[in-house]
Formats: sequence, structure tokens, C-alpha cells
Amino acid sequence: SEELALRTKDLPAVSTEGYRIRLNGNMEFLEEIPSLLAHGAEGIGLYRTEFMFLDRKTVPSEEEHYRAYKQVLEAMGGRPVTIRTLDLGGDKVPGKVKHEREPNPAMGLRAIRYCLSHRDLFRAQLRALLRASAHGNLRLMFPLICGMSELREARAELESCRTELSRAGVPLGKRFPVGIMVETPSAALIADRLAQEADFFSVGTNDLIQYTLAIDRQNRDVAYLYKPLHLSVLRSLQNIVSAAKSAGIPVSMCGEMAGDPIYSLVLLAMGFDELSMTSGQIPVVKNILRRSSRSEAAELLNNAMQLTTAEEIERYIRTEMDRRF
Ligand code: PEP
Ligand code: MG
Repeated sequence: SEELALRTKDLPAVSTEGYRIRLNGNMEFLEEIPSLLAHGAEGIGLYRTEFMFLDRKTVPSEEEHYRAYKQVLEAMGGRPVTIRTLDLGGDKVPGKVKHEREPNPAMGLRAIRYCLSHRDLFRAQLRALLRASAHGNLRLMFPLICGMSELREARAELESCRTELSRAGVPLGKRFPVGIMVETPSAALIADRLAQEADFFSVGTNDLIQYTLAIDRQNRDVAYLYKPLHLSVLRSLQNIVSAAKSAGIPVSMCGEMAGDPIYSLVLLAMGFDELSMTSGQIPVVKNILRRSSRSEAAELLNNAMQLTTAEEIERYIRTEMDRRF
């Protein structure tokens, strides 16, 4: 795989008929950047900033946020860097800002909800992002958006921070794209509306599958029911992509599904513009995409979606993938 990485690092992920998909990297820590670049990441598709909060007692200052984002943007040298605002709560509970235990953390005060109810924390991050945007190609995204009101509220907070900083004479970059994670069934179902006010979509399949199938992604007892190829998930993904295409905004996927080569043809067929994954997966997925035809992938997906159970669909896709690769 290291050999494959070296060989394909500078080649584009392009299907046999020339359909281009951008392959980005997921990251949690700055130390991961060299490996992402060595494996051919064309940008950062997901920077999970909440990891800065874990394993520590104090909340990072605006300055700490700023330094981290500036470093990533500079290290990526003009390539797009998608930074997700804090996805705290749920499975990621920091020491200092730890909340009272919730009976249903996945459905509780997490991600954008957490930020909208901890405005000082949110503003420190937004101010840092606005300042850092002068140093590279920033794209900002909000996690766990469930409706348009949340997107508007988050955007309003960003604009208020922008105004505050520019009044104070702080140098800011130019305006950058502001997108959302599509990772709840509600967002997937109103993707056409959200696409009117989001600059891009990035599908978080880890959560989208969890909420669509009502399968706690942490619970081993129900892990066997966690099915990325469940027909409901496939329909949901199709709806999201089609809403993005109609509105003319880019659509990416940054959940685990994006980096598992078994799904590469399905995602090629659906029309994702970008996929984001861990460094080791980039050469593997690229290798499959470069050897595939999009029209053949479309036929495969169409056949799969005539089937009904997740087991049938999985068996069909696995057989076809084994036959090809
Ligand atoms: C996802 O939900 O797919 C995702 C990428 O976000 P996280 O895994 O950090 O919840
Ligand atoms: Mg998520």
C-alpha cells in the first residue's frame, strides 16, 4: 500500500471516461498532515477540531485555535482545508466543559447544538477561523445541522464575529465557503432547501447511518445492524446528491463510508464531487476509481437499488466488486 501510495500520489482520481473526483484527507491532529500529503490528499475534507479539547482540563483560547488553523492552512499550501466547528458532546465529552450526563447523548446537546448554547466557546472558534482565513484556502462547515434555523443562526454568529473583528481592524481573509455536514435524516430530507443557503454539503455517513437506522454507533449489541448499503441510506444519499446538483453546490462525503473501497463504485455512480478519508485509504480508493467506468458504476447502483434487503444489496455489491478487482 505504501508502494501504491508512492506510485499514485500525483495522479488524479478519475474514471475511465474522465469523471474526476477529488480525494481529500480527514484529520484530527496537525501531526497527520505529512502523511496525508504523502498519500496524495488534495486537500483536507474534514478537520475534527474538537480533538483539541479532549484530554485536557482547560478550554483552548482563541489564540490556540488560531495558531492551529493557521498551521494547517499554511501546511496545505493553498489546497482547500475544510474545518468543522466543534463537534463536542455525544461521544466526545471534554474534561472541563463536560456536561451533566445525558440519557441519550447522541440525541442530546452535541455539535452545533452545543455551540449554539455555548456562545463564548463558539465565538472564540469563529473569530480564530476568520483570522486564520487570511493564511490559506479555508472552507468552514457546521456539524449535525438538522434544519435551516440552525444554519442561519450559526451563519449569523459568524457574521457577527466578522463585523466585530473588522471594526477592531483585525486583518481577515476574503470570504470563504460555509457549508454543512449532512448527517441527520432531517437534513437529508430537506437537502433541497438547505442547499439554497449552504455553500457545500459534506455527508457524514457515520452519523447519518446511525440516525437513519436508529443504530447507536457505539453499541456493539446492534453493530450487526449498521448497514451503509441499507436501501434507506442509499436513497438518502441519492437525495442529498441530487439536491446539491440542482442547486449547483459541491457535495462531498467524509464519513467512514467514503474511505472503504467496497463502496467506491456506488459513490462514483451517485456523483459525489469529493471524498474524504484517512491517509491510508486514499491510494486504495483512487486505484479503484481510476480503473472504473462511471456508466458501469451507474448500472451497478441501479441494479443494487432494485433489491430490498441490506443483505441482498451487500451480497450483490461484494460479488460485483470481487469480480472486478
Ligand atoms: C460522520 O458522522 O460521518 C462524521 C464524519 O463525523 P464524526 O464521525 O466526527 O461524527
Ligand atoms: Mg458526525
